[in-house]
Amino acid sequence: MGSITLEQVRKNFGEVEVIPGVDLEINDGEFVVFVGPSGCGKSTLLRLIAGLEDVTSGRIVIDGQDMTQAAPARRKLAMVFQSYALYPHMSVRKNIAFPLKMAGMAADEQERRVQHAAGILNLTDYLDRRPGQLSGGQRQRVAIGRAIVREPSAFLFDEPLSNLDAALRVNMRVEISELHKKLATTMVYVTHDQVEAMTMADKIVVLRAGHIEQVGSPLELYRSPRNRFVAGFIGSPN
Ligand code: ADP
Ligand code: MG
Repeated sequence: MGSITLEQVRKNFGEVEVIPGVDLEINDGEFVVFVGPSGCGKSTLLRLIAGLEDVTSGRIVIDGQDMTQAAPARRKLAMVFQSYALYPHMSVRKNIAFPLKMAGMAADEQERRVQHAAGILNLTDYLDRRPGQLSGGQRQRVAIGRAIVREPSAFLFDEPLSNLDAALRVNMRVEISELHKKLATTMVYVTHDQVEAMTMADKIVVLRAGHIEQVGSPLELYRSPRNRFVAGFIGSPN
């Protein structure tokens, strides 16, 4: 589970066409990175997949099912927000369990899932703390934990590391890659950072002004960038 297909997905905001028509195949278990300059439509594309925005036209198929019109909760995708989206007055446990509580899940099942996620993320000893008592990296892990407990078929990340300092960013990059290996779940990761794209991705999608310039593995894009824009963005010598 965790395949996502976009067929001629278009998005207009009023008169402005932000995504002119994108076709994309994301395979089960893949780590896919959307990369491109600010304003090129990365977040919009991710929000369309998540169902947080409606497509203007086109189709979104998740695990073989047409989800174009489906509400976000039905898509079984979990969006990971930046760590500042945590509730400061709630414990780590309550922050992680929050989406389960909202879904009306039984308390013992909530706790089982929180313990499982905390184990994966090395947060077991911090469940009774508040976000303000954690380091930046731990807070980001709590935000990821909140996604893990939903047991999604794919994780969607929108620049999750952009507010962290450089050293922590490197750590979290490694942690998210390790998490991907552990869970073997599809991850779609938005960044404008070439290094993140090159080091984390199975597949990179290079976006420019809402359309896809090139899709390929980091090595393919590095060796055979289709044009100067891709080469410039990937840091290839060509
Ligand atoms: P990125 O995430 O790559 O920086 P975005 O997807 O946020 O880019 O934005 C792509 C374009 O769509 C930008 O020109 C932005 O101004 C525009 N845009 C995004 N969201 C909205 C919105 N809700 N209403 C109008 N324009 C928007
Ligand atoms: Mg964005």
